Amino acid sequence: GATLGVMGGGQLGRMFVHAAQSMGYRTAVLDADATSPAGLVSHEHIRTAYLDAAGLTELARVADAITTEFENVPAAALEQLAQTRPVAPAGASVAICQDRAREKAHFVGCGVDCAPHAIIETPEQLAAVTDDLLPGILKTSRMGYDGKGQVRVKTRAELIAAWDDLQRVGCVLEKMLPLAYEVSVIVARGRDGQIVHFPLQQNLHRDGILAVTTVPAPNVTEAVSQQACASAHQIAASMDYVGVLCTEFFVLADGRIVANEMAPRPHNSGHHTIDACDVSQFELQVRAMTGLPLVAPVLHSPCLMLNLLGDLWFPGGVTVQQEPDWAAVLALSGTHLHLYGKAEARAGRKMGHLTVTGATPQAARATALQAAAILGIAPF
Ligand code: ATP
Ligand code: MG
Ligand code: MG
Repeated sequence: GATLGVMGGGQLGRMFVHAAQSMGYRTAVLDADATSPAGLVSHEHIRTAYLDAAGLTELARVADAITTEFENVPAAALEQLAQTRPVAPAGASVAICQDRAREKAHFVGCGVDCAPHAIIETPEQLAAVTDDLLPGILKTSRMGYDGKGQVRVKTRAELIAAWDDLQRVGCVLEKMLPLAYEVSVIVARGRDGQIVHFPLQQNLHRDGILAVTTVPAPNVTEAVSQQACASAHQIAASMDYVGVLCTEFFVLADGRIVANEMAPRPHNSGHHTIDACDVSQFELQVRAMTGLPLVAPVLHSPCLMLNLLGDLWFPGGVTVQQEPDWAAVLALSGTHLHLYGKAEARAGRKMGHLTVTGATPQAARATALQAAAILGIAPF
């Protein structure tokens, strides 16, 4: 049988490996970490850095098609692999998503609104920032995730100090917007240009980290849904994207939709698709990269997804890690537990997720609140 390769060994890679294996593929993971969640479950695990020449040669040798689960994998590594193997998404697409300045330029080029912003790479650009961008959020252009590499600034003095704190690397200053709520749209696009999408996810973030995803999105109107989906399609098509792509949107108090950022891979806000849809985002990644047909996914159960962060392993601030009471959670009907096989819990670390399905949105929500109470997750 064919072997599918994935750059990166995190939980997204692990769930991709599960999907690939259940469809009969062998898998190869490239990740330097010997205990990476995906490496632990893959047929092959190449343990080198992303740009290691021997590692890339070995991945291209064993894999018939290659994808990435890590948005910051060097685009050059994907381009090198693409010389001998089909690679999806392409390095050129990933390069846009890796850089907030290029990402915003792409949104604007697609006619999709994004937050008013300024690029800050030099002291002159910092000095030229206009007051209408404050209060704002200073974000490093590259490598940030889960709210890391971001500083909220109210005044010009705070902005100047924040850029120093971020080591004066390339940043984007975004105006702080009055968010009514946040949504994301996951699309899958094939090499032939066929494109399908999942129903909108509504996302609650806490401390910059996704906490809860609800589908169907409770606050979304038909107009918001249509506009967000059309924008997500346009964003993917206009970079000739192949694979699964997630775009995050802010919905403002006045109903306007603003694109926040995109991820060139399956996304945390799509984990519910494993248990609540007839085809998961990971299966669609397999289908897109191998040229299998894409089908429009159907949500068969209303659901909520709760992220299980490492904090839950230290209830009341205890210093010794202890496993949450899974049995009590699994006694509730409609709970689907996913743990990523990470041995060490740390505050803010994504250890797993719980998807709760129900016959109705109200039933799913009631069960999710019960599960949250058991686990020590604040109500939502
Ligand atoms: P991810 O883990 O999703 O990649 P990230 O570190 O790249 O996160 P962002 O998505 O840019 O960070 O921001 C994290 C969260 O901070 C957003 O989901 C939103 O709640 C809030 N936020 C970001 N930018 C703005 C803004 N311009 N105005 C208001 N809130 C914002
Ligand atoms: Mg991000
Ligand atoms: Mg984000």
